[in-house]
Amino acid sequence: MGRYTGPNCKLCRREGMKLFLKGDRCFTPKCAIERHNLPPGQTGGMRPMRRRMSEYAVQLREKQKVRRAYGLMERQFRRYFRLAEKSAGLTGGNLLQILESRLDNVVYRMGFAMSRKQARQLVTHRHFRVNGKPVKSPSCLMELGDEITVRPASNDLDIFVIAQERASDIGRPAWVSVDVEKKSGKVTALPERDQVDVVVNEQLIVEYYSR
Ligand code: SF4
Repeated sequence: MGRYTGPNCKLCRREGMKLFLKGDRCFTPKCAIERHNLPPGQTGGMRPMRRRMSEYAVQLREKQKVRRAYGLMERQFRRYFRLAEKSAGLTGGNLLQILESRLDNVVYRMGFAMSRKQARQLVTHRHFRVNGKPVKSPSCLMELGDEITVRPASNDLDIFVIAQERASDIGRPAWVSVDVEKKSGKVTALPERDQVDVVVNEQLIVEYYSR
């Protein structure tokens, strides 16, 4: 599955908001949105006139924002949407639950990585086990009771030592529990709508794909 390899901050600037794609840097004044919240290609000086967006453009932007926040390509995102449509309940809520359940997101939300992008890389480099088995696919969907552990051979990597040190500063969602000492975590519930950390109006995404 392909992935975006261009500059992260450009994506935030395109969406006009922080998508937290670069880990700790996103919380510093170096953040491009903090410095100048302008679309890519505009560097300040004359402020552009904000044009009124069409209904379609608003829906498209909402979809793109969520897709980029979770680091997905269009085809994969659309596949998740179709999966959400087939599940019982509200499609928008189902979609967010699926996105939150991805292994790379769970690793990030547990605090083992500083961004979803970093979590994805760590998973593909086989630093984690799920229920004791090695995994390398960031798109694995985690289920209730699944346990994620750092591979013993990776325990001493800087990234996990740092993660252990900053464990108390991280706000984790209530649907995961983490044992910092053992470098392991468990999915203790299914993610709820109000526990999603991306600001989104999912109904607009449903409308986008229902055109
Ligand atoms: Fe860049 Fe992070 Fe700021 Fe986005 S939130 S503009 S990725 S530093």
